[in-house]
Amino acid sequence: MNPRQQYRLNPGKSGVMGTKDLQQGALRTDTVKFPLPKPEKYIARCTGIHWVMGKSESQMDITEMNAPKPKKKLRWSGLEIGLTVVVILLAIVAITMIVLYATYDDGVCKTSDCIKSAARIIENMDTTAEPCNDFYQYACGGWLKRNVIPETSSRYSNFDILRDELEVVLKDVLDTPSSNDITAVQKAKTLYRSCINETTIDSRGGMPLISLLANLSEWPVATNNWESSYGAAWTAETAIAQLTSRYGKKVLINFFVGTDDKNSTAHIIHIDQPGLGLPSRDYYECTGAYQEACSAYVDFMISVAKLILQERNITFNETQIAEEMKRVMDLEKEIANATTKSEDRNDPLLLYNKMTLAQLQNNFSLEINHMAFNWSKFINNIMSTVQIDVENTEHVVVYDPEYLTKLKSILNKYTPRELQNYMIWRFVMDLVNSLSRNYKDTRNAFRKALYGTTSETAVWRRCANYVNGNMENAVGRLYVQEAFAGDSKHVVEEMIADIRGVFIETLDDLTWMDAETKKKAEQKATAIKERIGYPDEIMTDDSKLNSEYQELNYKEEEYFENIIQNLVFTQKKRLKKLREKVDKEEWISGAAVVNAFYSASRNQIVFPAGILQPPFFSASQPKSLNYGGIGMVIGHEITHGFDDNGRNFNENGDLVDWWTEESARNFKDLSQCMVYQYGNFSWDLAGGQQLSGINTLGENIADNGGVRQAYKAYENFVKKNGKEKLLPGLDMNHQQLFFLNFAQVWCGTYRPEYAVNSIKTDVHSPGKFRVIGSLQNSPEFSEAFSCTTKSYMDPAKKCRVW
Ligand SMILES: [Zn+2]
Repeated sequence: MNPRQQYRLNPGKSGVMGTKDLQQGALRTDTVKFPLPKPEKYIARCTGIHWVMGKSESQMDITEMNAPKPKKKLRWSGLEIGLTVVVILLAIVAITMIVLYATYDDGVCKTSDCIKSAARIIENMDTTAEPCNDFYQYACGGWLKRNVIPETSSRYSNFDILRDELEVVLKDVLDTPSSNDITAVQKAKTLYRSCINETTIDSRGGMPLISLLANLSEWPVATNNWESSYGAAWTAETAIAQLTSRYGKKVLINFFVGTDDKNSTAHIIHIDQPGLGLPSRDYYECTGAYQEACSAYVDFMISVAKLILQERNITFNETQIAEEMKRVMDLEKEIANATTKSEDRNDPLLLYNKMTLAQLQNNFSLEINHMAFNWSKFINNIMSTVQIDVENTEHVVVYDPEYLTKLKSILNKYTPRELQNYMIWRFVMDLVNSLSRNYKDTRNAFRKALYGTTSETAVWRRCANYVNGNMENAVGRLYVQEAFAGDSKHVVEEMIADIRGVFIETLDDLTWMDAETKKKAEQKATAIKERIGYPDEIMTDDSKLNSEYQELNYKEEEYFENIIQNLVFTQKKRLKKLREKVDKEEWISGAAVVNAFYSASRNQIVFPAGILQPPFFSASQPKSLNYGGIGMVIGHEITHGFDDNGRNFNENGDLVDWWTEESARNFKDLSQCMVYQYGNFSWDLAGGQQLSGINTLGENIADNGGVRQAYKAYENFVKKNGKEKLLPGLDMNHQQLFFLNFAQVWCGTYRPEYAVNSIKTDVHSPGKFRVIGSLQNSPEFSEAFSCTTKSYMDPAKKCRVW
């Protein structure tokens, strides 16, 4: 499965500590929205009802205070009687007016849900801004003025706030013991408790990691006599293989078992370029915006090595450690330079190089420590952990032949000690955060350089995300029980049917595509499988859920060992898949996730329970908001099946070219328009750097398609069901509200360090440009806000693919 084959609507928070992220060495930097010692359950879902009640109470106070107590009187004078009559008459008039007002239909919705929606929208806006000049400022200016990024967050947006709130729900359910819990849920709660148990974690220092190192041929810089104890027996095949096979940690060579792009029902071995310790290859320039990150990275290595040596009571020479770690950095710089830029990895047909293991050996001879690298030995070393034999006739897919070719000239320049120093560092850096405070603190400057955050995420947030990432079905069950309104499922089903219908109808309007290709596109759109909310079985099939985690047994006092157990378990499951068929029924996301997904190899769209909430969706908010929210998200995910990457896969999820030559050429020409449009946006927060129009192309095509389809689907809804009532306090029609709700999801801002990071690593454009870019291309937007072609939001040249 190629790296871009799974799409998400929005990147996760920087480095949510799921297994995958732990492997990638990402850091978790999220948010405490409610900085209370013990957030109460209702706070996260405070709906505004509380506010209305509070207001009416205070009005009662005022009345009481202003009304003096009547004094006793025996008789009424004529004047008093006259005045009383006048007062009674006035009261009758007033009551009549109120009754008339309350029952008079002025076309404005006054339900509490409408009032809440209106209040939320108004608060986010800056009505002094001109919508046709800068719609992002108009929609989000109020939000930007009111919010400051929390110290623990690298990015903060309405989207992120929903995630923060979801974490509060997870904390609550994982914190609450219950005697009715099934085994799987009990395990999730034990894992959570082991993670928040800081006293125990601190008391164990670095020992849990240190005792693991011996089984991995040690970290040379942090031990004595490495050459004599380990060096002699060291081989590259074993050293690289054991990190991969046991913990799924890929260094130097990225070996993985994944879906075969050209046969989506089967798994196949892949060889690809590896990830790096810094966020992207650009960082290794180590100048300008990257200088700080590079030096913090090397300092990070040195600090961890020193701590381990101290804990082992080994005397050390600081200069020597610094020299060794500089050598590690030199090596990783060369690796980074050998990797292919992400801009050049977007064509799945070019990535796919299938060959036999024998051919792999012939084509890519590597030399390490002046010995020929034995690919068969390396691969069998990995696969033998799950009792799979790999013959020379086995097929492998090489995603990056160029990298392997360049690697050849690098590796021989380094000694086994240097290579081992590097490889173990990459493993160690992921685990430092699971050790005692003094180890955790070695990351501070590094985290600041990459994410700009000055404080660590609250422990409970990190832990709730970790458990959710590793046990998504068990945690999903708890989340759904606690927070998901199940009745929304059929409403979303109808919306998907609407929007899919619009996508197919719109094909007729496309002049650039011939009939033959249109037919195929229609077949593919029709075949897209949908997943909404959560898999039913996580709620109903207790024994299946229990058996999923059967092999896992966590101890409350052994958080580190629990993490290792998860890594081992996950990796074994992945490797075993080589001889299994792809389970196309499997969900590609957990339920407790605020995001949405498309999988090209499954031709599947997923809308987890976590995203089915306001502002995206509510059964009781105006449909214009639902279509601008989740409707746009549905269109976005469907369009991914037809973006620059997804279009290469057919209705079954196989990498097959189903396009006529002419239609494919036209597709490329039209998408080039968006490459230029987005590539011309310069991002102030990233020091004025321009976006990569190529890397964000797929997401931009999806955004543009999503807005267009959802808007059309809403127009159809109005045609069928009549106009909706307006929202109170807002002088706007529902066409305008559609665009406003779409835009406000993206109200948010980044720390500069993280902007520099994500402009190179995120395939999504920053929220601001997602809004501006897609609305500049939307004639319907210009019409809704009466923009003229003289304005920034309504350029004469509009890009459109779908
Ligand atoms: Zn997307």
